[in-house]
Amino acid sequence: MSDLDQLQHFIGGEPVAPDSGEYFESTNPANRETLYQAARGNAADVQRAVAAARTAFENPRWRDLSQTRRGRLLRRLGDLIGENAEELARMEVLDNGKLLREMRGQLATVPEYYYYYAGLADKIHGDVVPASDRRVLNYTLREPLGVVGAITPWNSPLTLTTSKLAPALAVGNTVVVKPSEHTSRTALRLAELALEAGFPAGVVNVVTGFGAEAGQALVDHPDLAKISFTGSTATGARIAAATARRFIGSTLELGGKSPNIVFADADVANAAMGVVAGIFAAAGQTCIAGSRVFAQRAVYDELLERVTERARTIRIGDPLDADTELGPLAFEDQRDKVAGYVDLGRSEGARVVTGGQVSDGGLGGYFYEPTILVDVHNDMRVVREEIFGPVVAIMPFDTEDEVVRLANDTDYGLAAGVWTTNLARAHRMASRLDAGTVWVNTYRAMSPMSPRQGFKSSGVGIEHGTETVKEYTRLKSVWINTSEDPVADPFTMRS
Ligand code: NAD
Repeated sequence: MSDLDQLQHFIGGEPVAPDSGEYFESTNPANRETLYQAARGNAADVQRAVAAARTAFENPRWRDLSQTRRGRLLRRLGDLIGENAEELARMEVLDNGKLLREMRGQLATVPEYYYYYAGLADKIHGDVVPASDRRVLNYTLREPLGVVGAITPWNSPLTLTTSKLAPALAVGNTVVVKPSEHTSRTALRLAELALEAGFPAGVVNVVTGFGAEAGQALVDHPDLAKISFTGSTATGARIAAATARRFIGSTLELGGKSPNIVFADADVANAAMGVVAGIFAAAGQTCIAGSRVFAQRAVYDELLERVTERARTIRIGDPLDADTELGPLAFEDQRDKVAGYVDLGRSEGARVVTGGQVSDGGLGGYFYEPTILVDVHNDMRVVREEIFGPVVAIMPFDTEDEVVRLANDTDYGLAAGVWTTNLARAHRMASRLDAGTVWVNTYRAMSPMSPRQGFKSSGVGIEHGTETVKEYTRLKSVWINTSEDPVADPFTMRS
């Protein structure tokens, strides 16, 4: 193991060895090869990173930088990510098993997030507020919060880190990133690129390690001004409780169990491809996975047949191969969790139409076959709980009212898909579905310009779009008495 790369934390603009001297290994899930060792962060490492971020926050080189120049740095970072796209894409493929072709697609859009927030950097500011007394000037200052903690999951590390980093930096915060223990590499590379782009040392820091150690220490750090978290609802609940106790803000992007609804008036062949994209892309390891499919009874058989046919021909294999359509699950426990859910579904009475088996993908990795469950209903755990794998439950429905009730009968509210050619129905469904994103005749579309919010147990706060930037600021109200008048009556309020 001594010839493995040993990755250090990135703190104050330089690699920093872990306080404990301990490292942990990261494995390629496609073939179980050990890839590298990463620093195992603890509270002392977090303390050092937050202190570096705090110093950078107060450093005039960052604090007094004009908003236009901050935008320029973000643009430069976007350019550097574009220039290093292939390296970053491959790092992530090895770490979490995502398809190289999907990662190339993601890397084509990641720079756009930085360009978008670069454009916003000099458009976020306070306002003059009308005062009832002309002698008083009242205005607001929109200020950065301070040190922001960004905690991210393993399924799309670079994109999800970007969703936090770009708006946080655009308004002048400094950041400590804690990536998932399964995917340490791209966050570290991103921090190096930020330094190269010209962000002062300490503006972007990364502490690698486990959730219960590095993550928890970050959440508990008293100098943190905000936590922006993407991950499971269970961890999100713990973070929400911790931030509430300290009265600091949090943005939480959590789990999902999204409905994908096919009406009889839809183009069924196209809808079937939308269902496949919704659940089998990224081996179902997306928060927005369309894991509950509702098909109107008149097209239920046809849809099931089409989706089954496509699922059976999905090419499982090496995520680096251009032909591969389904890579591995990201690590062994995740593969076991998916397998466990399918077994649970069977014991609850579900019928497996296709899939339902683990596979090594011919490479010795942690694969699971694309799986379709039928004879399922909304009370089963496989329909209620997030599986986060290539497993879809397909159910029939009769009326629009019924499917709205079934689709909304979930703890989650992240996303929903609707397939219909009826324009009025499309808009009606968009309004009636209890989900932060609704796609009609498409699925998984996303853009830095479009705000997204998880409803119910899927989250708190907004990511992307202009709204999210405000979540990384605080608003101060300033009152200036522009008259020379003395205080006439100390017991009467003036406005
Ligand atoms: P997770 O909650 O296990 O871990 C996420 C991050 O939190 C990791 O970095 C982990 O180390 C850290 N963590 C774990 N325990 C912690 C603690 N006590 N304190 C602080 N940090 C802690 O989630 P995961 O398994 O890595 O990711 C999968 C989940 O992420 C799924 O539920 C998925 O739906 C969700 N997700 C949501 C979105 C979204 O935008 N809504 C996007 C992608 C993934």
